[in-house]
Amino acid sequence: MDNLIDFQALVNSAAAAKEKAHCPYSNFRVGAAVLTEDKKIFGGCNVENASYGVGICAERTAIVKAVSEGHKKIIACAVSTDMDEIIAPCGMCRQALREFGPGMTIACANKDGKYQTFTMDELLPKSFGPEHLGK
Ligand SMILES: [Zn+2]
Repeated sequence: MDNLIDFQALVNSAAAAKEKAHCPYSNFRVGAAVLTEDKKIFGGCNVENASYGVGICAERTAIVKAVSEGHKKIIACAVSTDMDEIIAPCGMCRQALREFGPGMTIACANKDGKYQTFTMDELLPKSFGPEHLGK
């Protein structure tokens, strides 16, 4: 399935979403984009808050946008930062992504758009999911 996914387009969407980041506290901009099974792309950025714990990561913003529009099957995700190195999603986002796409591929891009792909199993091995609750 991966060879049918335009990861470059998804990385570009994540980079575009990054432009909307609200991160006055960390100054760490992140953009994400999720690709749903029906080929729709939803972008998201990190949205921080003066009450720090209220903030949400870019990946979860994108997930929430997709799911709230009725798209629950995610087949790929891209993440873009302003770093030289490739940054992978935080643990909470890995779990959030896993809920909607245990077989997804995640493309992690640096500031220049250079990206590396990872499977969900690579980022979150032995993961917990809905099937463990009989769902
Ligand atoms: Zn996160």
